[in-house]
Amino acid sequence: MIREILLWPHPVLRRRALPVEAVDASIRTLVADMFETMYAAPGVGLAAPQIGVLQRVLVLDTRPRQPESQPVAMINPRIVSTEGGLSVYREGCLSIPGEAEEVERPAIATVEFLDVDGQLQQLRCEGLLGTAAQHEIDHLDGRLYVDYLPLLQRFSMRRRARRRKQEHAEARRAEPTAL
Ligand SMILES: [Zn+2]
Repeated sequence: MIREILLWPHPVLRRRALPVEAVDASIRTLVADMFETMYAAPGVGLAAPQIGVLQRVLVLDTRPRQPESQPVAMINPRIVSTEGGLSVYREGCLSIPGEAEEVERPAIATVEFLDVDGQLQQLRCEGLLGTAAQHEIDHLDGRLYVDYLPLLQRFSMRRRARRRKQEHAEARRAEPTAL
């Protein structure tokens, strides 16, 4: 099921997500919904707080087109080490449509997480996957990529985001009710 993606500034995007205690059927449904929502957007990563679920779950697919698709779901992810210096990538975010800015992060991050079977896994994420994994893990701590930008730049982005959000809400109100 495609879920609604919360747009910045939304207070839930600033909350810290809680660890998943048991990887059960409800978590697998959440993961399936997150993949569906991410592919439909389209995007290469999505964290549960972006659909209003404060649990430490994220999905990634840096090659969303078939047949190279490489879906990864991470539950309770944790960065265990970083290496390779810093790299700069122009990041966007499904919760901040229409914006993209350069952000500097460690080039390679090794992430430990539970998979959808509850098994502990480790993945060395580099390139776009490295950037995306760190961006999504930030979401689980209520952090957004705009937090790495200079304050004035963040303020003007926030102003534009508020305006877009208002337009979005008005457009929705104008739509006829479909039952
Ligand atoms: Zn994001």
